[in-house]
Amino acid sequence: MLKILVCVKQIPDVDLVKMDPETGNLVRAGVPTLTNPLDLNALEAAVRVKEQYGGEVTLITMGPPMAESTLRECLAVGGDDAILISGRPFGGADTLSTSYSIVKAADMKGKFDLIFCGKESLDGATGQMASQLAERFDASQISCCYSIERIADGKIRAVRALEDGKETVEATLPCLLTVEKDNFYGRLPNLKAYLDAKSAPITTYTENDIDGLDLNKIGVPGSGTIVPKIYPPELPEPGQIISTGSAKSDARRLVEILAEKGSI
Ligand SMILES: Cc1cc2nc3c(=O)[nH]c(=O)nc-3n(C[C@H](O)[C@H](O)[C@H](O)COP(=O)(O)OP(=O)(O)OC[C@H]3O[C@@H](n4cnc5c(N)ncnc54)[C@H](O)[C@@H]3O)c2cc1C
Repeated sequence: MLKILVCVKQIPDVDLVKMDPETGNLVRAGVPTLTNPLDLNALEAAVRVKEQYGGEVTLITMGPPMAESTLRECLAVGGDDAILISGRPFGGADTLSTSYSIVKAADMKGKFDLIFCGKESLDGATGQMASQLAERFDASQISCCYSIERIADGKIRAVRALEDGKETVEATLPCLLTVEKDNFYGRLPNLKAYLDAKSAPITTYTENDIDGLDLNKIGVPGSGTIVPKIYPPELPEPGQIISTGSAKSDARRLVEILAEKGSI
C-alpha cells in the first residue's frame, strides 16, 4: 500500500491583500483565505494514484489554526488523514524553515513513498518548497508532472510537460512530484464526504510535539532569508481613449496631449 503525502497551503485571497504603506507589511487580517488552487491539483493527482494502486493519502499543512479548514476541504475530496503544524514559533518562516518543519512533522507518521506539492503557492510563489522538501525527504523529484504512467517495482514513470513538448521520465521511490493543473482538475466533494470531513480528526503538532525538532531551525531563527522591504509595483499611467467625434479633432487632441507631456 502506497503512503502518499500531499502538501497543501492556505493562502489569503491575493486579490484582496493590501500593503501597509507605513510598515511595508502585508495586511492579512480580515482577508478571506482559500486553499492554494494548485495544491488541489496536487491532491487530485494523489487521489487518482490511491484509486488506481491502493494507498493512503495524508495531508499536511503548516499555518495558523484556521488552516484546519483547508485540511477539511481536502479531506472531503479524498484525503485520509491530516496533519496541522501550528504554533507561534513556526511564524515568520521562509521556505528553508517551512520545509524543515514539514519534513520533521511528516516523519512522525513514518516514511512516505510519494509526496505531492503544488507547483507554487499563489501568495509566496517562490516555487522553492518542492525541491527543498525532496532534498530533505531524500526523495527523487519529478517536476511539472503532466501524467503518471506507471508505479511498480519501487519506481514511478511519469510524463513531464516542457515548454515545447513532453518527456517521459522514470524515478525511484520515494519521489516528490509537482503537478501541472491541465490534467488534474480537482473534483468536488459529495455531500457525505463533505459532512464526514467536518468532524474528521486532525493531528495537530505544536513545536513541543515533534520528535527531535530543533527550535533554531523553525520560524524566524531558522529562516535564511530576510525581506528588508516590500512594496507594490509602480503602475504605468492609465491610458486615455480620445473620442471627440471626428478623426481630425481626435488627432488634434492627441497632438495637444503629446505636446503637454513634452513628448513632441
Ligand atoms: C523572511 C520571510 C518571512 C516570511 N514571513 C511570513 C509570515 O510571517 N507569514 C506567512 O504566512 N508567510 C511568511 N513568509 C512566506 C512563507 O515563508 C512562504 O509562504 C512559505 O515558506 C512557503 O513558500 P512558498 O509559498 O513560496 O512556497 P512555494 O514553493 O511557492 O509552494 C510550492 C508548494 O509547496 C507546498 N507548500 C508551501 N507552503 C506550504 C505550507 N505552509 N504548508 C504545506 N505545504 C506548503 C504547497 O504544495 C505549494 O504548492 C515569509 C517568507 C520570508 C522569506
